[in-house]
Amino acid sequence: MSKNEAKPSPKDSKPHKIHEVVKYPDPVLSKPGEKVTEFTPELAQLVDEMFESMYAAQGIGLAAPQIGISKQITVIDVSFKERPEDKLALINPEIIEREGKQVEEEGCLSLPEIREKVSRAARVKVRAQNVKGEFFEVEGEELLARALQHEIDHLHGILFIEHLSRLKRDLVHRRIRKLQKNGEW
Ligand SMILES: [Zn+2]
Repeated sequence: MSKNEAKPSPKDSKPHKIHEVVKYPDPVLSKPGEKVTEFTPELAQLVDEMFESMYAAQGIGLAAPQIGISKQITVIDVSFKERPEDKLALINPEIIEREGKQVEEEGCLSLPEIREKVSRAARVKVRAQNVKGEFFEVEGEELLARALQHEIDHLHGILFIEHLSRLKRDLVHRRIRKLQKNGEW
């Protein structure tokens, strides 16, 4: 998921590999990701790279399919480096509870410039594994609930524009085609 305002980050450091974010309509984005079964140091390394790639792209959430890796891995940081406890890496996450409704504007690193209001659950509880394979649960409201739902959708090959009405979706597709034609996509 993309941040609201794109502003350069003040504290970029680290020598991690930055992966390029793939854009819609790359087919990897509509393919369900495979479950992770091996919790290796390479997985931990990939998660670190995903955080760095997400920050480099000014995002608050990034799913592995967005860097061309069709696996159920996602990273989220709704405070964008402000609060270390907001850094979440979720492997094989599953929404186990959802409650209420919120309608807010959403964006996606794979759909740059597109922002639309999306209806989501107001609160979700998610069960996932960490990079060591240990299960944990995380509960989120508001922006975190939205980020969790948005990123977990990615792991099932679903983009946020698929939650829009037919009419809105057609308008988005038209806008993308225009951007493509102008070489801006
Ligand atoms: Zn996204």
